[in-house]
Amino acid sequence: MPRRGLMFKACRKCHFLVDFDSPVCPNCGSKDFSDDWRGLVIILDLSSETAKILEKVKPGKYAIEVY
Ligand SMILES: [Zn+2]
Repeated sequence: MPRRGLMFKACRKCHFLVDFDSPVCPNCGSKDFSDDWRGLVIILDLSSETAKILEKVKPGKYAIEVY
């Protein structure tokens, strides 16, 4: 079980949160994941201020910090 990541692991490259059984990040294609992450932001609308601040390119769930 993840220590504090609910049921997701976070991509170390782009912070995208993916299901534990996903082998690659659907956002950037990286296979480098961490189950040690904190904070969750959900990007629904890429024109939102949050998306601009975080420089995210794909709607979805992101970890704010990944260790
Ligand atoms: Zn990624």
